[in-house]
Amino acid sequence: MELEVQCPKCNWEPDGEAYWSCHACSLEWDVFSTGGRCPRCGLEHQYTECIGWAGGCDELSPHLDWYNGLDASLQEINIERTN
Ligand SMILES: [Zn+2]
Ligand SMILES: [Zn+2]
Repeated sequence: MELEVQCPKCNWEPDGEAYWSCHACSLEWDVFSTGGRCPRCGLEHQYTECIGWAGGCDELSPHLDWYNGLDASLQEINIERTN
């Protein structure tokens, strides 16, 4: 997938490292490799944190906001915000 990924707040670009950990099972993985879904327990993470110690801003943003140029119709298929 050739989507560009960067923080919507500070434009930090993840480099494919396992910066994130699952809220449910604590697995550490690259959240963008699976579109926010934990590869172990399947939990969907709708918000993704920007990694401050890796150069980011520590802010939380909706996962889909991280994808640059994501087609609008694709977003409608992938996400249903109920809150
Ligand atoms: Zn998990
Ligand atoms: Zn950021």
